[in-house]
Amino acid sequence: VIDLHTHSVFSDGSDTPDQLADAAAEVGLSAIALTDHDTTASAAEMAAACARVGVEHVVGVELSLVDDLFPRTLAGGGLEPRHVHVLAYFFPVDPAHPLQGLLTDLRAERDGRNAKLLARLVDLGFTRLTWADVVARARGEESVGRPHFAEAMFAHHPEIVGEQTPENWRRLFDEWLGDGARAYVPREGRTVGEVADLVRGTGVVLSVAHPHLNYLGGASPAEVASSLPEILTSLRGRGVRGSEAYYGGVGPEMRAALLAAARDAGMIATGGSDYHGIFKDVRLGVGATGDLRVPDDVLVRLREVRD
Ligand code: AMP
Ligand code: ZN
Ligand code: FE
Ligand code: FE
Repeated sequence: VIDLHTHSVFSDGSDTPDQLADAAAEVGLSAIALTDHDTTASAAEMAAACARVGVEHVVGVELSLVDDLFPRTLAGGGLEPRHVHVLAYFFPVDPAHPLQGLLTDLRAERDGRNAKLLARLVDLGFTRLTWADVVARARGEESVGRPHFAEAMFAHHPEIVGEQTPENWRRLFDEWLGDGARAYVPREGRTVGEVADLVRGTGVVLSVAHPHLNYLGGASPAEVASSLPEILTSLRGRGVRGSEAYYGGVGPEMRAALLAAARDAGMIATGGSDYHGIFKDVRLGVGATGDLRVPDDVLVRLREVRD
């Protein structure tokens, strides 16, 4: 059993790589990919930690991209490229490698988004929120993401968002921070197609993360079964080899729908918990419902298609 989607303090998770590797050994994982958002800065520490506990380490990163072929419809009827997370496995970690420039660009774009998001929240009444408060919840400026904003909102504005409970966390994202919510800031990230072209021939393998959330937020398993195939076929055509199906945030029925859609599109059904430590209600390896099992074979297949 493996887990190919996890986060550490190097992005918006709460575990250090050492804690993550210990937890992986405890759960009995044979391999783990640490897929922090837009950075591989955690890779060296994670490699050492995994070697210490005897768990195989796969270098990964979760890229914050946009998809212009399947735009989202705005309230006013306009269209806008959709935020899409794409997992990139076997990513080169050498700071001098040209592909690291992509990560630098994505982080710069994130910085700009974060500044706009803060200004927007202050405008909307979160007047006690400061950049220093948000950053204090992350490991550093480079790691800041929406979960850190959420924590700071709970700390400084319980009169608006209530106490920090799992239910209020969901509500906060639905109302304020989620895609399309009141404080939503569109991203100007790179497109999936552009990035697929960029990594071609480098040995990096792309897999679209939680496609039901990226493309079909709030959809039922039946709606995923009817709407996802067209989207995945298009992504496959652009060079995305995998689609996340064994996903920690969903139950067996949704997982089955995601699995069928991935296979029908000729993609590798990849998987992971999307573990964020205290920032998300999923457990490493076994997911939210405790019955997630990502087969070892997924990693074998990802290796087979490296170009
Ligand atoms: P960012 O990379 O800053 O755009 O933040 C993305 C992260 O925010 C995701 O990895 C999730 O941890 C969290 N997130 C985004 N949308 C939601 C949502 N609707 N509910 C809960 N968490 C979310
Ligand atoms: Zn995250
Ligand atoms: Fe994601
Ligand atoms: Fe993630």
